[in-house]
Amino acid sequence: MLYVVPTPIGNLEDITLRALRILKEVDLILAEDTRTTAFLLKHYGIDKPVRSNHQHNEHKILDDLIQQLKAGKKIALVSDAGTPGISDPGYLLIRACVQNDVPLTTLPGPTAFVPALVNSGLPCDSFTFIGFLPQKKGRLTKLLQLITEPRTLVFYESPYRLVKALEEFKTHFGENRRASVSRELTKLYEENKQGTLEELIVYFTSKPVKGEIVIIVEGANELKKVIANG
Ligand code: SAM
Repeated sequence: MLYVVPTPIGNLEDITLRALRILKEVDLILAEDTRTTAFLLKHYGIDKPVRSNHQHNEHKILDDLIQQLKAGKKIALVSDAGTPGISDPGYLLIRACVQNDVPLTTLPGPTAFVPALVNSGLPCDSFTFIGFLPQKKGRLTKLLQLITEPRTLVFYESPYRLVKALEEFKTHFGENRRASVSRELTKLYEENKQGTLEELIVYFTSKPVKGEIVIIVEGANELKKVIANG
């Protein structure tokens, strides 16, 4: 059995009782960064073998993991923060489990985009998760594809590229599109700032931007009106 186990995105209290029990019960924990996971396990007094599973070795260790799972081992997959597979390693192993009829279950738990989306005050009934935009090749193509997207847009971004990303959104989506920036969710300096793209650019240009960032952008209104009017 493979257990996909979400871990806190900042505040260590954000882990479920079930996640802690599963981490205590499994034979092996697969971690994106063994040091980060060792810190979490130590905090909760969990002593289990931890093996690394990151983007540079996940292809190589796949067959071995599937063999172990088929032999009946219980394995938990965690990433550094949040839910594995969401802009984090996990997809390859999970797909291999599905293809090999290995039972798997993903526990509900922390992920950065859900609180950011809900905090934004923008429609949550229909949204599209983009995650990180490509840094160079493909970035413009992706942005152009999103111009007419009517659903709320969800982006992960580094603090160093926040203002640049907001400026690109302004160029392609228009300065009056509403948006929300969530910074350091669940941590001491959590900040959720809502406004038009232009207002957010002015705000975040006036101070150094630190910490982890989720950007939520309103979907394309014009298209929504056209759709509503048939
Ligand atoms: N697996 C994670 C999840 O479920 O959200 C995402 C991992 S991805 C490598 C890291 C990105 O998630 C960060 O660059 C940031 O965009 C977002 N993120 C993670 N923790 C966050 C936090 N506490 N506040 C705001 N954004 C966060």
